[in-house]
Amino acid sequence: MKYANIIVNISNENLDRTFQYIIPSPLQSVVEIGSLVRIPFGKSNRIIEGYVIDIVNTPEFDKDKLKEVIDVIVDSKVTESRLIKLAAFIRENYGSTMINALKIVLPVKKKIKEKQEKSIILNISEEEAKEKLVLFTKKHQNARVRLLTELIKEKVLDYSLVTSKLNISKATITYLTEQEIVKTESKRIYRNAAIGEMSANKTILNEHQQIIADDIIKDIRNLTPKKYLIRGITGSGKTEIYMEVIDEVIRQGRQAIVLIPEIALTYQTVMRFYKRYGDRVSTLHSKLSQGEKYDQFERAKNHEIDVMIGPRSALFVPFDNIGVIVIDEEHEGSYKSEKMPRYHAREVAGELARLHNAALVLGSATPSVNAYYEAKKGEYKLYELNKRAKEAKLANVKIVDLREELKSGNKTMFSRSLREKMEERLLKGEQIMLFLNRRGYNGSVSCRACGEVIKCPHCDVSLSEHKRENKLVCHYCGYSTGLVNQCPSCGSTMVAGLRIGTEKVEEKIKEMFPMANVLRMDGDTTKNKDSYNNILSAFANKEADILIGTQMIVKGHDFPYVTLVGIMLADLSLNVNDYRASERTFQLITQAAGRAGRGEIPGDVVIQTYCPDDFSIVAASHQDYKEFYDEEISYRKMLMYPPYGQMMLIMLESDDYDSVLKYSEYLAGKIKSDIITENFKAIIIGPADANIVKVSDIFRRVLYVKAREYEKLVYIKDYIENNLSSDDRIRISFDFNPMNSI
Ligand code: ADP
Ligand code: ZN
Ligand code: ZN
Repeated sequence: MKYANIIVNISNENLDRTFQYIIPSPLQSVVEIGSLVRIPFGKSNRIIEGYVIDIVNTPEFDKDKLKEVIDVIVDSKVTESRLIKLAAFIRENYGSTMINALKIVLPVKKKIKEKQEKSIILNISEEEAKEKLVLFTKKHQNARVRLLTELIKEKVLDYSLVTSKLNISKATITYLTEQEIVKTESKRIYRNAAIGEMSANKTILNEHQQIIADDIIKDIRNLTPKKYLIRGITGSGKTEIYMEVIDEVIRQGRQAIVLIPEIALTYQTVMRFYKRYGDRVSTLHSKLSQGEKYDQFERAKNHEIDVMIGPRSALFVPFDNIGVIVIDEEHEGSYKSEKMPRYHAREVAGELARLHNAALVLGSATPSVNAYYEAKKGEYKLYELNKRAKEAKLANVKIVDLREELKSGNKTMFSRSLREKMEERLLKGEQIMLFLNRRGYNGSVSCRACGEVIKCPHCDVSLSEHKRENKLVCHYCGYSTGLVNQCPSCGSTMVAGLRIGTEKVEEKIKEMFPMANVLRMDGDTTKNKDSYNNILSAFANKEADILIGTQMIVKGHDFPYVTLVGIMLADLSLNVNDYRASERTFQLITQAAGRAGRGEIPGDVVIQTYCPDDFSIVAASHQDYKEFYDEEISYRKMLMYPPYGQMMLIMLESDDYDSVLKYSEYLAGKIKSDIITENFKAIIIGPADANIVKVSDIFRRVLYVKAREYEKLVYIKDYIENNLSSDDRIRISFDFNPMNSI
């Protein structure tokens, strides 16, 4: 006997209200997760429809009291059915309950009041208006004068702006409306994230681009879409290819999803989509409210948009016939969810594409080692673009050995070479970008006498100095305290910021070049909704000479006047105990270098490092992906790291260190004794303390399991969930092929 858990009113809020029904034997082969079925409901047994969200073998209730599913509405193409199937995929592959997986794929229904935008429009010609203005001025009718003056300039004004900022009364507006001097108009507006002007002329693809686009389009037309990976250097024209493919999909009446790492960081890309598709494109981003998000999903459902751009959650937009899913900057870490269930957007997109018979197109200048490996194996069709679309020269890259700088007495964070080049650019009025990886760079404070680092009392991390606010802040739990002037350990007053952060770089530049205008972009300066755009557009408008920033500034921006990029300390991403440290270093440097010389003027890149011979830094300085890949893949193979082996992180957390210590030993022992055999090979690494052993007073231990096959890891995860009843004080979670070192 099989039983179906059914929800009758599908929405994120109703997930806890499931009803169980018997699946009668003739239907057992047809009812599946996601099926839309008819059931008798309530006392009166009226017949309603519901979605099957789970199928189980044992009933939760007395089975004599359960009713039977009547039949299946055969239409597996229902959007909701597919989303439920996607949730099932997430549950299977990432270790999650069905409810939690459904919460991810189903939108939160939050209807917000329709926003009416009213505007005031000039209803007479400009000349007539000027005559009226003279008249009103003579009569000292100041409110009328104010409004008309503005309207002559702008023609259309926002109603609320007129009443608030211009301080114009309703009576004035009514009077002018009656005189037919102005009129008001209102229309329902969707809270669209950005609106651009459409431009009719689209780029003609060059032959390299055209070959790729044609190939993908041919497969889509033949209804045999595949998975594709485009490795193309920055500026080689990948985005234009995506748009060409999307055009075809739209012609077929189908829809497209475009994933980008984070809207604010790829604002220029988004604007290009707006220019091409106008209001048929919409965006999701992390700073939208639930209501705004819901609006966008409603529009998608009503076929008002064809293209949805957004971060990984854009995969769950309720489109009913997806033709292509694009993942730009495929290698980005943000495609992996950092919350449970920790799904990877690339894998979930693969499943979604399968459900819709859609193409999946990945693009990157520096593909993840995993994706490139898969492509070489034939899982993806691989295309390579090695030339920039617009004739722009690749930058000249110079590696500076910081050890040599120190030897010759330069103790500052700017090498002589970087400083000279900066001077030169400032003189010429060209722009500079300075990049500083944030990892490990939170400007921690330490005692110069005894070496004591000032730490958060709740977490095993150092506090960061925030000079402007005169505070020390914990970036993990938010704890903050005043600046410390005396070492808590030895009492010395020689307490100072230990390392440089973006703020320090800014300070130093102001000292070196007091005339330069400097902008800084990092987690601290981009807390509000508009701050990214404000900083980026200010820099694009040449309102500043130098932009200093973390990872955020290296992605996807096109600044034609930037001719110098400085990488302050390339080693930062390297000295991390994570098997992907080299991959990240290569990606960051290559991307940062890609920012230089986008326009007519060739650019320079200066990489400052203590490890000038590291292969990832050297390969990045040549912008040679294959040189990097060949070295990296042989190392992965030797050590059985992904893609040659699969990894699962088991994280154990508790407020009591002893309990979590004991439990981690017990669990490792159980896996070894109960599961691992001659025929079931897997390697256990650990248990050990997490890199950061304490966060918000919770202690963390980790255990890694390595195996050749992913299925084995899933088996171990299931075994733990089903057979090892854990201590109430221990929380267990899983992360498959983790992206962040814990
Ligand atoms: P990528 O996505 O690979 O970084 P883009 O598609 O953003 O590359 O292209 C980089 C720049 O070159 C953009 O300004 C784009 O408008 C321009 N471009 C791309 N393809 C062509 C083309 N075929 N002809 C002229 N300009 C192009
Ligand atoms: Zn001290
Ligand atoms: Zn803390």
